Amino acid sequence: MSYKFTQHYKEDFEITIVKYNFMKFETFFRTRKDIVSCELCKTDFKKEDDTCLAFVVKKKNLLICNKCADKAVEGGAEKRTEW
Ligand SMILES: [Zn+2]
Repeated sequence: MSYKFTQHYKEDFEITIVKYNFMKFETFFRTRKDIVSCELCKTDFKKEDDTCLAFVVKKKNLLICNKCADKAVEGGAEKRTEW
């Protein structure tokens, strides 16, 4: 017998800037194998997906999908398409 406990923790991210069209996931994955899904909604990226980069206050930047990027911008984050 064993008891399985699943931790459901909540973490807040304060996103200030969203950089759209950061790079194709295929390109990103060539150098970074540790991220395979959107870091917010955990949807798996497909090779051909565009990724966005979210700048988070006091935390590392997040690689996120277009849907989460739109949500962040609607919520008040600054949208950037150029560096
Ligand atoms: Zn997402």
